[in-house]
Formats: sequence, C-alpha cells, structure tokens
Amino acid sequence: MKIFISADIEGVTGVATNQQLKVNSEYQRFRKLMTQDVNAAVEGAFNGGATEVVVADGHGNMSNIFIEDLDPRARLIQGSNRVMCQLQGLDESFDAIMFVGHHGRESGSEKTLISHTLAGICVNEMKINGKIVGETEMNAMVAGDFNVPTIFISGDDAYVEEVRETLPEVEAAVVKKGVDRFSAELLHPKVAQQLIRGKAEAAVKNIGNASSLKIAGPITIEIEFKGTSQALMTTTIPSVTQIAPKRITFTCEDMVTAYKHMWGCVIIAMTATNGVLGHVNA
Ligand SMILES: [Zn+2]
Repeated sequence: MKIFISADIEGVTGVATNQQLKVNSEYQRFRKLMTQDVNAAVEGAFNGGATEVVVADGHGNMSNIFIEDLDPRARLIQGSNRVMCQLQGLDESFDAIMFVGHHGRESGSEKTLISHTLAGICVNEMKINGKIVGETEMNAMVAGDFNVPTIFISGDDAYVEEVRETLPEVEAAVVKKGVDRFSAELLHPKVAQQLIRGKAEAAVKNIGNASSLKIAGPITIEIEFKGTSQALMTTTIPSVTQIAPKRITFTCEDMVTAYKHMWGCVIIAMTATNGVLGHVNA
C-alpha cells in the first residue's frame, strides 16, 4: 500500500508566527519539528498497513525536512523546480494522500495561522469552477484526478474546519488552536506527534471507506492577484484572459493540466512582483 505525504510547515506543531519560518536560527528549530511531525505521520501510515511512503517537502524553497532525521522507510522529494509543485511524484499508483503541517487559505478564517494560498506575496484568491479553494482542497482535487483519496490532514483547528467543508470525512490531527494569524495555543510536540501518529494510523486502516475528490473537466481556474502587474504578466500565456485588473482566468480539460497551468501563472506572478528581470545578473 503506497501513501503520499505532502508536507508544509505553517501547520506544524509549535509554529505560531511567520518570523519562525524565515531563514534564521528559529527556522532551524521548526525544520526539526516539521521533520518530527512528518515522521509521526510516516510511522502512523506504516502502523496502519502502508508498505511504501513518499514525502514531498512543499514549503518555501521546498527543502526544509532534514533527510538525515527522516524515518528511513520513507523517500523524500526536495528542491523547488517542480512542474507539479507540492504534488511532485504523485500518480495513480498511490492508494492515498496525507497533508501534514498545512494551513488555511488566504482570506479564509481570521484564526487560521499564517494563512495564504501557495504564494502569500501574490495570490489573493483562487477559485476552481467557481469555488474558492485553499492549497489542501486544490491538491485533493488533483489527487482525485489520479483516483487518490485524501485521508488525513494536520494543522490548526480553523484550517481543519475549512478543509472539512470540502472533505467532511477526512481524519485530522489538530495540533494547535489559532488565536490570530500570528498567535496560537500550542500542544506540546510529544502530545501533538502522538496525535498525528494515531490519526494517521486510523486513516490508513480506514482507507477502504475513503473516496477521492474527482472533479469532471473542463476545469476553469480564476486567480485574483494582489497586484495588477502580477496579473498582467500572466497574460503572456495565450490561454490566460485578464477579467479585471488583478484577476485572470483560464480553462483546461482536466485537473492535473489545470494545476500545472495555475502553478505556471503563480511562478510568473511571483517573478513579476519586483519586475521580471530585476534579479538577473547575466
Ligand atoms: Zn508553507
């Protein structure tokens, strides 16, 4: 039984502020906690009957987890040049997907910690076929295209509530309670990781009851960016239409293609934030 784990850091045990995730000595502590949360999920998955686990590191430059401390039974995908973003490596050979340390969407609950949608620097809102989505819901739809069900999530309480609007049956480990975007009531790592281990194990044991979130094509994605130049520069792709100064839309035949297209637009928008050639020295 093959399990895919998409790992982020904002919903990791102990994380309460954005400053903890900048590259500094604090960040090194939270990378360690991220690795521990992932290990708890890996262990739970194997206890529940998994025989293979692949982890995709999905925060920032996508190189956060300490591989030397990772459960040796898991394989790790790191590095940021990925066509499939947080889902690189996922295909129809997997039996289920888990989201560890994820977070709520931009403009969602005011209590979900460090909420954003893929790139806080540029994305204000993301819609799929008219429905506002966060990263987990969108990733779950992509997994659904591969017939892979979402069985487990971990993060703060408001995030879990948000995801359950779309995936009411998903098993969840609530490792903290959001007070504001930048403060939380935290469980101790030993307690939180015990919770993750147990819930991940239960999720894998109940895999027979899980259904995948498959959205029939065509898929129309709408993105509202924070700035007008971010939106404008995505129109270099011929399939993109700018429908308002900060808002674009495009349509693809299926969810996997739409996800890659969306990621391409976000990459352009991030790059356009300070002028697309501003950082090039050559
Ligand atoms: Zn992140």
